[in-house]
Amino acid sequence: MKTYYITYPHGKYKAITLSYDDGKVQDRRLIDILNRYGLKGTFHLNGGLFPTEDEVETPDSRIKKSEVASLYQGHEVACHTYTHPTIARCPIDKVADEVIMDRQVLEELVDYPVCGFSYPNGSYNQAIQQLLPLLGIEYARPVGSTKNFSIPENWYEWQPTCHHNNGLIALAEEFTQLHKSQYLYLMYVWGHSYEFDHDENWELMEEFAAHVSKDESIWFVTNIEYKRYMEASKRLVFTNKGDKVYNPNAQTVWIRINQYVFAVKPGMNDLSKNQ
Ligand SMILES: [Zn+2]
Repeated sequence: MKTYYITYPHGKYKAITLSYDDGKVQDRRLIDILNRYGLKGTFHLNGGLFPTEDEVETPDSRIKKSEVASLYQGHEVACHTYTHPTIARCPIDKVADEVIMDRQVLEELVDYPVCGFSYPNGSYNQAIQQLLPLLGIEYARPVGSTKNFSIPENWYEWQPTCHHNNGLIALAEEFTQLHKSQYLYLMYVWGHSYEFDHDENWELMEEFAAHVSKDESIWFVTNIEYKRYMEASKRLVFTNKGDKVYNPNAQTVWIRINQYVFAVKPGMNDLSKNQ
């Protein structure tokens, strides 16, 4: 009897994703670090809080609409509500407006559906969790630090591993030392880029990125790419014998059978070859 495992792309078993809120001008410096080391992030923006194009920029400013597409290229732009209220206090139909309006503004700025979400002020409840999928939102991130590397069970309560001020380097060292490829691991880091200015600790992110980028068993991925890959992996259909697999997705999904890694392409795949 062979063992069948879902893996991350190219047989990898560790993934890192980052998530930063509010879209302030310090996102530029953060993205410069991520780009230099090949890390990927998701940036949660408020559609109703963009400055006007002629506003004079200060360190407290948000990124202007005209810069969004180029700055966040290669990363994910995601929702964070239109005006950043504490949504558990809001009437539920107003929460719906906040999400829909935010999506509409952001989708004018980028060329893909904007389906990610982080809870402003970390505020949510069960009714909001049930509302979000009806508004086209595919996942939502609270605030907090689990300090573990587990795969989320509820995409609308996607708990991060840590805020970057909460043990980042120690967790990164623990993460890069993981070597049990029979598991899948995820390290999820969140914060606000302006905090690095306030705390004068940009070297923290530089050190983190330099450290994890050296580990070739890590897949660097945006929030939505990660979520969609994991969902796609669940849609694979195997023959009972396990010699063929149908991939109904538009993307390749990777699996491991005993020690062999397979790229399962969209459509029918014969697994009896190359084993
Ligand atoms: Zn926020």
